[in-house]
Amino acid sequence: MERVEDLAEIVAVVRRDMQAHLGRGRVADYIPALARVDPGRFGIALVTCDGRTASAGDAQVPFSIQSISKVFTLTMALEKLGADLWRRVGREPSGSAFNSIVQLEREKGIPRNPLINAGALVVTDALLERGDPAALIGRIADFLRLQSDDPSVAIDAEVAASEADTGFRNASLANFLRANGNLHSAVDDVLRVYFNQCALSMTCVQLARAGLYLANGGRDPVSLARVTTPVRARRVNAMMMTCGHYDASGDFAFRVGLPGKSGVGGGILAIAPRRAAIAVWSPGLNPAGNSYVGQMALERLASLTGWSVF
Ligand code: GLN
Repeated sequence: MERVEDLAEIVAVVRRDMQAHLGRGRVADYIPALARVDPGRFGIALVTCDGRTASAGDAQVPFSIQSISKVFTLTMALEKLGADLWRRVGREPSGSAFNSIVQLEREKGIPRNPLINAGALVVTDALLERGDPAALIGRIADFLRLQSDDPSVAIDAEVAASEADTGFRNASLANFLRANGNLHSAVDDVLRVYFNQCALSMTCVQLARAGLYLANGGRDPVSLARVTTPVRARRVNAMMMTCGHYDASGDFAFRVGLPGKSGVGGGILAIAPRRAAIAVWSPGLNPAGNSYVGQMALERLASLTGWSVF
């Protein structure tokens, strides 16, 4: 296992090497509240399975985790439903954009996987089961507070409202799922939870800490609490590797070689099994909607550490 000073040096080198690239890519502007974020930001945090943390840049600045929340709701839904969840959502890469609607029609309302928007709406619905949306929003936020070991994690109400105002594609997906019998709760209730989970605001340090159970077979290595089973943690990692970057998942596996999940806020959570969880943040996105510099940073980190799973 690397020494702590090596880890500090590794994140410092990654940050230094990203300097020339900061500002590349395009900030997501289809959610107006996200368009205001400074594209020059960059943060990286790494938390190891033996509890050490190394970070650099804007690692303590909160950002909108967006689709990274799908990893955590998937974990919660697998805990609730076990393998029955896979009756309602597939586990193949989509090869399509994160908010694509065509495939859903062809495949009769069964989303390809839980990490695209349609699949995440089904996962959220499975957690809601006609219950109270406000209570579920609270449970999801509490899960992230517990896993990040930080009670200050909060939902950015402005981002949630901004998404609700402009979420016509997500509303289409939810209605289509409902028309196919694969959404059991009211469309508006599912969307409300989904927009709020995406609007969770976290720092790289909090996010890396929150994802640590996925690097450690489902058990938080610091608190020793069992978050999920080893098999389910492996399933979530497999989904992240094959589907975590939408139609650019193959490229991410090729370049980085770690399970990862991106969000349009510019964050990426990556898992180095049995070693560490890593979060990076840089708001400029590539055409597939993944952080441009964030992916470069993880590629650099993987080459410095040799942590690729391949
Ligand atoms: N909230 C965003 C959406 O539903 C999440 C998408 C993403 O991060 N890729 O459009």
